[in-house]
Amino acid sequence: MQKRVYIETYGCQMNEHDSERMLRLLESSNYAETKDPRQADLILVNTCSVREKPEHKVCSALGRFRRLKEEKGTIIGVTGCVAQQEGHRLLDRVPYLDMVIGTHALPLLPSAVQKVEFLGQRVCETNFDPEGAYLQTVLPQSLPVGVKSYVTIMQGCDHFCAFCVVPYVRGREKSRPSSDIVSEVDHLTQQGVKEVCLLGQNVNGYGKGLKGEIDFPDLLYRLHDLEGLERIRFTTSHPADLSEKLIQSFRDLKKLCEHIHLPFQSGSNRILKRMHRGYTRETYLERIGCLREVCPSIAITADVIVGFPGEEEEDFEQTLDLMDRVRFDDLFSFKYSIRKGTRAAQFTDQVDEEAKQKRLALLQGIQREVTLQKNQILDGSVQEVLVEGRSKQSERDVTGRTRTNRVVNFDGTQDLIGKLVSVRITKAYPHSLRGEAISD
Ligand code: SAM
Ligand code: SF4
Repeated sequence: MQKRVYIETYGCQMNEHDSERMLRLLESSNYAETKDPRQADLILVNTCSVREKPEHKVCSALGRFRRLKEEKGTIIGVTGCVAQQEGHRLLDRVPYLDMVIGTHALPLLPSAVQKVEFLGQRVCETNFDPEGAYLQTVLPQSLPVGVKSYVTIMQGCDHFCAFCVVPYVRGREKSRPSSDIVSEVDHLTQQGVKEVCLLGQNVNGYGKGLKGEIDFPDLLYRLHDLEGLERIRFTTSHPADLSEKLIQSFRDLKKLCEHIHLPFQSGSNRILKRMHRGYTRETYLERIGCLREVCPSIAITADVIVGFPGEEEEDFEQTLDLMDRVRFDDLFSFKYSIRKGTRAAQFTDQVDEEAKQKRLALLQGIQREVTLQKNQILDGSVQEVLVEGRSKQSERDVTGRTRTNRVVNFDGTQDLIGKLVSVRITKAYPHSLRGEAISD
């Protein structure tokens, strides 16, 4: 009999993609996805501990599912960064929890579920795996694939930025063999996927440890040759590793979309040094200059942290100044939160909450204006849109993205899904564009 699994996902695209991989792994154990936890035989909470907020949400999620465990005996598991970090402590703290599966233990998920189902055991798997079995290809069997798909090309990180927990919960940088990636993308395109987004914490470090086989731009060139694939994206790049060769790929590769996510974290050299980021504001700005020279229409987005320990008003001013010089298309901004085990957790000059909040609000207000202005510039222009599906707002509309990753809604029929459509932009909003399809 078919069983049902409900997965609740917190955090970044990497976690979203891990959830997709979990669904693929559980297909072979006869589990199909449900969007309703009350219908589920198995509930998995896929967690993130990169910042404070998503970490707290995990506890309240588990609280919500407790009743289902008591009433129906639903199996409950925690996966992802919090699972990796807390391990057995989580099983001790949450008596109704059945499974804790760490970031490298994903392939063990089906056998862990069986141990709970048939042996009534509680399972905790949090060993790091230096062989990288967790990176092995898991292809979708009967699961429907959409128009676009994420593909993990590497896991972990070697950078050890002072604020960041990723190297501790995801382990060291490990790249997948390029042949695995190429055949996965080929398989996906044969099933109808038109766009892939290559995922890693630091994709431009791709290839380290693969014995000089290939670097990241080489991988892009190889994927570019695949028939049926229309668009390639990637995230995230580290400014210190952004090579000239990668920048040139934006000129040479037609399928590579004109968008780069390049977190800068702070505009102050003093803070960048304390963060252990490995670049200065000058080199960051120089890289942006090179990108814009090679590809003038490129959209640039980034992450920034306010209130890192020791950040003074002058440092924050430098962050605003860098934003003013770059004029980002969009920005993901966060208040610094202490992460256990990281270097910055020991810094004694923590910034008070009120100052952090004030800086964040000011920065976000400025960026909102810039994002809207950048969208307004597109009013009247014709954009290539890959149609992803029906719009949630209106039944008559379809929705898709421009090459620069902006959401566009327009009047259109179901048969446009999966197609590249030329759309004239008629209205700009802060988070999306409205348009009308034009015939070429
Ligand atoms: N690897 C990417 C890089 O180096 O830019 C970022 C990965 S991290 C998962 C995503 C973002 O979370 C970071 O760019 C940073 O802005 C934010 N972040 C990480 N740790 C944080 C912390 N302790 N407090 C606030 N924001 C944090
Ligand atoms: Fe974290 Fe820095 Fe690695 Fe990004 S590069 S994942 S911020 S340690």
